[in-house]
Amino acid sequence: MSALEALERPPGQAAQSSATGSGTGLAALPKAHLHLHLTGAMRHATMVELAKRHKVSLPPALTQEWPPQLSTADERGWFRFQRLYDTARSVLKTHDDLYRLVREIAEDERAEGSGWLELQADPSGYATIYGGITAFTELLLDAARKAENATGVGIGIIIAANRTRHPLDARTLARLAAQYIGRGIIGFGLSNDERRGPANEFEQAFRIAERAGLLLAPHAGELAGPASVAASLDALHANRIGHGVRSVEDPALVERLAAGGVTLEVCPASNVALGVAPAATAVPVRTLFEAGVGIALGADDPLLFGPRLVSQYEIARDVHGFRPAELAALARMSVRGSAAPEPLRAHLLDGINAWEAANLPRAGPSALPLRGAIQGALG
Ligand SMILES: [Zn+2]
Repeated sequence: MSALEALERPPGQAAQSSATGSGTGLAALPKAHLHLHLTGAMRHATMVELAKRHKVSLPPALTQEWPPQLSTADERGWFRFQRLYDTARSVLKTHDDLYRLVREIAEDERAEGSGWLELQADPSGYATIYGGITAFTELLLDAARKAENATGVGIGIIIAANRTRHPLDARTLARLAAQYIGRGIIGFGLSNDERRGPANEFEQAFRIAERAGLLLAPHAGELAGPASVAASLDALHANRIGHGVRSVEDPALVERLAAGGVTLEVCPASNVALGVAPAATAVPVRTLFEAGVGIALGADDPLLFGPRLVSQYEIARDVHGFRPAELAALARMSVRGSAAPEPLRAHLLDGINAWEAANLPRAGPSALPLRGAIQGALG
């Protein structure tokens, strides 16, 4: 199934992973995945199975009407999205559930050519079930290490604070993240409704994370416009921006992002599902690419939107006309914008070069006889 088909799929029809033998070659393109949320990355079948096991009742939007029809045009729409996310998370009850979730995520990443994954989680959302934010973080890091060993996919964790909660909570999470740097935590983020929690309120939390040497990757420029992205650069010193697609509304900001080497984690299927863009054609992948802005394509919450990582590259190819060399450039940007350790970066970049060489456009039909004729003439 192509990404477009996935987006236009009637409700209730399950998405197929395009990574499993679609023959497009995009699953074979090595890449890094920098925008994926923990619960949002769960397989739909796993959510349904765990819900049954733990007697959690799922709403029709997560069962027969899956993937749900969503829109965040107003706060009620965003609230609905968050409520569905919280319901999905509530199927996780045991340590085994968490280990299984992370292992399956890593297996899916490997199947889609992702050699490095940065997985975001807000420990506050899992604290009640897993014995507090610290105990949860340790479990998650252990699960990530085991999944890495089992699949060969490198995993870094980004602790993400919730911008609709008190900024003091974010500071607590920043200190927690700082404590585990070098032990699997690589970054600090900020998620949830951008219209409700402006960036500058989280300045102190980001200072803590910055001093610790964590990569800073808040969401911005998704539900709010360019001012929110600028505030994330000015107040939070963001190295990367989650989404950031609405930056295109301000050409000076686009120039600033390009000049500053700030990578945008662009998630086309998410933008369409949440109504940030009316259609995949309106996601400004081409505009940002032509402007020289670093782009790392991401799936965000495939559990709620359907399409996973390869589908985002299919959108770039099928909707925005990215040729193989440009798709390889996107993959390179995802690696360069990542916190992957140096040997892995070099390995992934080598793989991207090899993929590009294997996908170079072949010479036209007249080339061979001509070459033959020249050789004949010379011989
Ligand atoms: Zn996100």
